[in-house]
Amino acid sequence: RLATSICDVRKEYVLKSETVRALRGVSFDVPEGDFVAIMGPSGSGKSTLLNLLGCLDKPTAGHLLLGEDDISSMSDDELAEIRSRRIGFVFQSYNLIQQLTVVENIQVPLYYQGRLGSEERRRATDLASTVGLGDRLDHRPNQLSGGQQQRVAIARSLVNDPYFILADEPTGNLDSKTTEEILTLFDRLNGEGRTIIMVTHEDEVARRAKRVVRLKDGLLRSDTTNDEADRQL
Ligand code: ADP
Ligand code: ADP
Repeated sequence: RLATSICDVRKEYVLKSETVRALRGVSFDVPEGDFVAIMGPSGSGKSTLLNLLGCLDKPTAGHLLLGEDDISSMSDDELAEIRSRRIGFVFQSYNLIQQLTVVENIQVPLYYQGRLGSEERRRATDLASTVGLGDRLDHRPNQLSGGQQQRVAIARSLVNDPYFILADEPTGNLDSKTTEEILTLFDRLNGEGRTIIMVTHEDEVARRAKRVVRLKDGLLRSDTTNDEADRQL
């Protein structure tokens, strides 16, 4: 798990009659162990940046380094490989498979690699306990609360020991008490050395990160460290 570097990244979308410059030269580093919130108004480039960090797309120009891998120069197959093995995704809508149990959902990223053995099941079971679902192993998503479902998604994001957790509005569907529980879990995982990159539009959520990067009009507008005292309840 090494640093991520975003170096003068530009992203343009070519539509029929115009070119949309979604990112216009954005640079910042995410060291191992950081916890970054990405904010910005609608249209500022957050989703575009998230897609690049998630290896779903490549920059038009500039470099995006995940450790020693420069995703800017990778083939689509190499990107897919990194995406499935090295990045942990957490979404607003959890994206769990309804037919699978908690443990099976956590194992999903391993299925894609053909890893189905008892060792994998043990790893998924351990992760379920890590996120507080040790007594819900064989439940299905519709038997769980939203917060519990998001815990499953967080456990799933960790199963490959990713470079970082990439969370897109992870508390967007949760009430404030459950949001607090999820942020406490992120804080604990970050304290254990996990790197977290989270897009949010909520100040109270961003406040709980170590650092806030703000985009505006495809540019980095500010990059600030959160006061340690403000990060507490
Ligand atoms: P945000 O997530 O902050 O709302 P986006 O990254 O979605 O911002 O969008 C940045 C800009 O790029 C906007 O002007 C948006 O309309 C445009 N954009 C985003 N995705 C595409 C796309 N696939 N094709 C064309 N334009 C896009
Ligand atoms: P959000 O930022 O809330 O996640 P989206 O990323 O879906 O929302 O869209 C942000 C902006 O990008 C919107 O204005 C949307 O119209 C535009 N956009 C997204 N995808 C495309 C696309 N494929 N083509 C053109 N514009 C797009």
